[in-house]
Amino acid sequence: MNSILLEVNRKRLLESLSISSSIGSSKNGGLNRLALTEEDKAMRDIFIKWLREEKLEVRVDDFGNIYGKRKGTINNGPVVAMGSHLDTQPCGGRYDGILGVLSALEVIRVLNENNIETLYPIEIINFTNEEGARFAPPMLGSGGITGEFTKEFIYNSKDSSNIIYKDALETINYMGDEKNRLKNVKYFIELHVEQGPILASQNKSIGIVEGIQGMSWLSVKVTGETNHAGPTPMDNRRDALVPASKMISIVNEITKEIDGLKTTVGKINVQPNVSNVIPGEVEFTIDIRHQDNEIRLEAIERLKEKLSTIALMNNVDVTIATDWNSDAIEFSPTVIEAINEGADKRGYTSLKLFSGPGHDAKYMNKIADTGMIFLPSVNGISHNEQELTLDDDIEKGANVLLYVIHKLANMK
Ligand SMILES: [Zn+2]
Repeated sequence: MNSILLEVNRKRLLESLSISSSIGSSKNGGLNRLALTEEDKAMRDIFIKWLREEKLEVRVDDFGNIYGKRKGTINNGPVVAMGSHLDTQPCGGRYDGILGVLSALEVIRVLNENNIETLYPIEIINFTNEEGARFAPPMLGSGGITGEFTKEFIYNSKDSSNIIYKDALETINYMGDEKNRLKNVKYFIELHVEQGPILASQNKSIGIVEGIQGMSWLSVKVTGETNHAGPTPMDNRRDALVPASKMISIVNEITKEIDGLKTTVGKINVQPNVSNVIPGEVEFTIDIRHQDNEIRLEAIERLKEKLSTIALMNNVDVTIATDWNSDAIEFSPTVIEAINEGADKRGYTSLKLFSGPGHDAKYMNKIADTGMIFLPSVNGISHNEQELTLDDDIEKGANVLLYVIHKLANMK
């Protein structure tokens, strides 16, 4: 049967979404379903029930990731996987992650009710603790199976009440077996809300994600000399805040000269932070993002040079440390092409774009040809109870996912 003729059941998909929205619901229309809590367990239990109803082979691995496998005609061949996460932020929305899992389930339901066989097996995945809101850092489930983090590191991650991941996993009865981890995966597709304003502002329904931006965090420390605000003459001061403010402005100016670069100074500390004392020390952070690693790294060098010059001219010292680097990744051209084709064949408007935030797909890209489908977030709002993706877009996204999975699971 031609995949173009297949269509998801919009009503059924929205009903599944509405059931999810009732588990861990918060009073302002959002969700509070932190990883490995009772609410997460309740959602997992229903999800597994749905997987069994579709006659999928269900497994849970040693990080609590849940898999449902649908047989292919070549059963020992590689699998085509799709999914995302069912956990949320404490004041999270009803769509982030959840749409990716429930659309995947809807794809399975359509294939099953039409008795459609595929060459390769298809797996649906719910990753544990994508949000990182209870156990830091984010994406522990996908990071665990792709070798980004060790098992020991993940198991010992603590929540704010000092409960460790491993204990939380056992408490909700979702400690599975290491041998159940995803293996031999050829493709991985994640459908997700954009969490940004680009698709909505350009009136496009389908985002074809080309990759995930690279990111670096710098911390800058400017040291001058603390002194009394009254007696110290202006030309005798070593005020750390004045050059720091020039540095922050120059970061913004240089950023505007480099196409696609984004920088944010989101945190600043002034010492001693007293009205009548000349600031002796200022620390601030710079978050730097670009889809091209080389451009990002060059920009960092340029910023460091400029900041050092400002420090010299103002008789203060500056140290700049790189706290964290995460390189940009590019998704599989085969998957990008399949998503593009799926959107085109249905006449949906689409746009190619890069993701700002990280996703499970970022780590999955290490072990499989990976791609993402983005759906518009109304007003670009996410990690917020007001998060909204329109029903029409949900249906379109799931239809594209169906097309892509069916195509890739039959591609020799
Ligand atoms: Zn998410």
